[in-house]
Amino acid sequence: MLEVCPVRVLDDSYAWILGPRRGSLAVVVDPGQAAPVADALARRSQRLAAILLTHHHSDHVSGVLELIAETAVPVYGPRRDEIPTVDRPVGDGDRIEVPEAELALDVLHVPGHTAGHVAYFGHGLVFTGDTLFGGGCGRLFEGSARELLASLHRLAALPPSTEVYCGHEYTVANLRFAAQVEPANLALARRLADATRRVERSKPTLPSAVAEERATNPFLRCTEPAIVAATQRHAGRPLGDEVEVFAALRRWKDGWRPPHPAID
Ligand SMILES: [Zn+2]
Repeated sequence: MLEVCPVRVLDDSYAWILGPRRGSLAVVVDPGQAAPVADALARRSQRLAAILLTHHHSDHVSGVLELIAETAVPVYGPRRDEIPTVDRPVGDGDRIEVPEAELALDVLHVPGHTAGHVAYFGHGLVFTGDTLFGGGCGRLFEGSARELLASLHRLAALPPSTEVYCGHEYTVANLRFAAQVEPANLALARRLADATRRVERSKPTLPSAVAEERATNPFLRCTEPAIVAATQRHAGRPLGDEVEVFAALRRWKDGWRPPHPAID
């Protein structure tokens, strides 16, 4: 039985510690900072067996050097993102096995936020970094809208019960935007209320599930007539296909600020 433990780093980011319940070895995904991860491992009486990185941004990798100085462990990360601390570069279709932590994860190349971005999938869990967020998706930094949309489709096609662990606690702001785009979506309204309550109690809104994202995340719903209509209204022109709707929705979100101060 695996257990996933959230570690809050750098205000609004998560590193995830993953390993067998009551096991002494675990892996960490995206340690943006070393100290909170080391503290969490110590509290759990666990040692690191490996580090997994989803992409090269500093808020996901900055803790690696300090952690491997303490315990020399393999560092897996996307081949195409060229991260200096990665000694086990991986790409699409690779399988990572960490038997001492009872783990086997498949690597999915999900470009768009960065060129090399990968997700790790296995045991009914997926670590999506900054590609798929709770209720949203990452910004387009190194890829096209078509690439990021294809990456999101791949993640959305995982089994519906798959638990989604992403890199940041952005869910409430994402869902507030989503509710503006698709105000009649009741599942979305319920999810926003639930996520708001969790954040008010300083609880993570994650993991979500693939089915929940498909029902409420506007970036996975770009063929829904209500979303097409709202995005066209905002763009002020007709949008020809799903990629155009997705690109316009992403631009809309880039310039969007919550109407009221964010709840923290
Ligand atoms: Zn990023």
